[in-house]
Amino acid sequence: MKYVIGFIALCLTGFYESNAQVIAHSKNVSKAKNVHAKNKTATKPKNYIKVFYESPTDSLHSVWYEAFKEDRFLEQMAGTINKVFKINKPLTLSLRNCGVVNAFYNSETKELILCYEMLHHLFNFYKDSIQDENELGTKIGNTLTFIYFHEVGHALIDILDVPLTGKEEDAADYFSFYFLASNEVTEGVQATMEGANFFLENYNKMVSDTAYQRLKAEGKEPQLPFWDEHSLDMQRFYSIASLIYGSNPEKYNHFVELGLLGNRRPGNAIAEYKKIKKGWDKLLNPYIKFKN
Ligand SMILES: [Zn+2]
Repeated sequence: MKYVIGFIALCLTGFYESNAQVIAHSKNVSKAKNVHAKNKTATKPKNYIKVFYESPTDSLHSVWYEAFKEDRFLEQMAGTINKVFKINKPLTLSLRNCGVVNAFYNSETKELILCYEMLHHLFNFYKDSIQDENELGTKIGNTLTFIYFHEVGHALIDILDVPLTGKEEDAADYFSFYFLASNEVTEGVQATMEGANFFLENYNKMVSDTAYQRLKAEGKEPQLPFWDEHSLDMQRFYSIASLIYGSNPEKYNHFVELGLLGNRRPGNAIAEYKKIKKGWDKLLNPYIKFKN
């Protein structure tokens, strides 16, 4: 297991650095020189992002604590966010004991919390179906990346006061896609696709579960959570896959044949991608740093 975790950290480290550079570079590069000249005498901006590793209360989680602390996982995340966005309010990135499987943003305390239980859940979720440790580490790392940037989306919506016109949970998924995949960094697209696959597999595991099957045979299967703030797992899967397709229909043409768009019309997926990209570009533009 230690080797798997080491590989997750390795896969994340390289990716964050390259993706942050691509995003920062893609914004107003032509203006960057002027800004550089102006900023030469400016004082170094304050770092508002803090990190916190809570000691694990469950000995099963010690391995995560040690590996993530040693690899400076939260510092890497803070560095990536700082590199791309002008953060001017306090934000804490934490790894904590939660007692439940979760990752969430607390707007009261301005804290993005990744729970040890979530890490352990991802490990258990995939460990039986993937024997190869490199492959398992990559799978967990990619899924975690999508989940983490979904939470970063919540954090930015709050601290940058980004306006919403729909469900925040959908917006956070779209942000994660926007940040990771809309610039077509290969690792980012892979992480986004793994995020989508996680929702698909979650759904498949639920319906193939023996207890669920028994209840279904009796006509008593639990109702899907239509009331939830989150869209249903399968909706999240198709929405993310459609955005990836829409970002480059030629490259991802095979998505249509593989059924990854469901019955969505490809043209609609392309149009939606353009609107989502334009929306985030416009809303985040005042907060994107120039390349330095
Ligand atoms: Zn969320």
